[in-house]
Amino acid sequence: MLETITAIATPPGKGGVGIIRISGKDAKKIAETITKKILIPRYAIYSNFYTHDLITHTSKSIIDNGIVLYFPNPHSFTGEDVVELQGHGGPVILDILLEEVLKHGARLANPGEFSERAFLNDKIDLSQAEAIADLINAGSKQAAKAAINSLQGKFSEKINELKDLLIQLRMYVEAAIDFPEEEVDFLSDQHISLSIVEIKNQFKEIIAAAMQGQLLQEGINIVIIGKPNAGKSSLLNQLAGQDRAIVTEIAGTTRDVLKEYIQIDGLPLHIIDTAGLRETTDLVEKIGIERAYQEIEKAEYVLFIIDAIEFNKINFENLIVKWKINSKKIIFIKNKIDLVNEKPAINTTEFAEITKKTSYITISISAKTGEGIDLLKNHLKTVVGYQQQEGVFLARRRHLEALNRALALVEVGEIQLEQAKAGELLAEDLRLAQLALAEITGEFTADDLLGEIFSNFCIGK
Ligand code: GDP
Repeated sequence: MLETITAIATPPGKGGVGIIRISGKDAKKIAETITKKILIPRYAIYSNFYTHDLITHTSKSIIDNGIVLYFPNPHSFTGEDVVELQGHGGPVILDILLEEVLKHGARLANPGEFSERAFLNDKIDLSQAEAIADLINAGSKQAAKAAINSLQGKFSEKINELKDLLIQLRMYVEAAIDFPEEEVDFLSDQHISLSIVEIKNQFKEIIAAAMQGQLLQEGINIVIIGKPNAGKSSLLNQLAGQDRAIVTEIAGTTRDVLKEYIQIDGLPLHIIDTAGLRETTDLVEKIGIERAYQEIEKAEYVLFIIDAIEFNKINFENLIVKWKINSKKIIFIKNKIDLVNEKPAINTTEFAEITKKTSYITISISAKTGEGIDLLKNHLKTVVGYQQQEGVFLARRRHLEALNRALALVEVGEIQLEQAKAGELLAEDLRLAQLALAEITGEFTADDLLGEIFSNFCIGK
């Protein structure tokens, strides 16, 4: 029998209400001792919470008062007996109450241990448990909606449907192998190839939705670079919609990298405004520039800002080489178009004289007036493939990795069948693909991975 666990379930700090959650076989007994009440399942009882002398078995002083709620197993979040003590939301009062619960034999819960028990008792599967953490951590309304979809099992449902298709096909192929005299006919019949096509289509659909979910969850990394005074901080402020970076007319004020988190229609952008990039002897700025190189390396996109007045003199190829930027990542921003009377625009500029093949996106904006900022935002959404759609589920990197691995196995199996008529190999690949999908819902997940997933939860969850 597992130990009874407890934790403060509400966030640290002061609030109207503070909740202590207890789960396990002693939960009811502990709460009845503290409240001196007989608990009724799912019934809110108003009560005092008492300290108790363990030697004389008498109640001493009142700690707090509030509501006690009892959910008997298996109809509780964890699937065990669960009690909530809802008192006043002050850190000291909650600590005193928590100590009292611990005194009666419960132990402090580890991070995510309530959710882990819910998973172990089959109340939720692994991707639903992850969705709880993702819902709590959601940074936008879109991310929260997607997390709710996952929590309600919509992602798991799709995974299970796909797993069923894999199982059906594997049974069909294995039946063909078991009757060798008919094997050749079986294996070359249309049923198998059509099933594989259907399975691959379903994979692609789920992967596309999961990729949207992962974008919502993780967002993209963007670096803003350019000469001092080109308008990096101003652009950052425009994108963020509020003044965060220091904007000033003295060159080189942004001394170090500055990280900013913003959203465009729910798409999270982690933006790094680099140090004013220039050749310098100033040690602090040199360190800043070194860090800028590292950030460029890590980023998905680099916004290179150039003052409109200097734009025609720029050798773009040299800039890319100098700053070691992968040319696929680069978006040139022609800023301050208000000074040269230009309109906002986006174009793919061909630098044919430098290399026949290279083309770069250039977006003309004014970070001062805000003109062209929408063009830039829409371009970023397009290049990362962000679509605002319903029915997205919040997916994690590990889900996508498992989905892609499973799809690759199906594709290998298909080739084995087509080229070598190797039904056994196809069956084996289908079995491995099915196992990869089972990792997502946690039917088949290594203990250390489970430990890692739950340890990233907050305490009390
Ligand atoms: P940074 O050094 O690259 O971060 O540049 P800042 O954002 O601090 O801008 C330097 C100066 O240029 C400030 O005085 C800004 O107000 C001004 N500036 C930035 N963008 C524009 C723009 O689009 N038009 C005009 N007219 N001025 C701008």
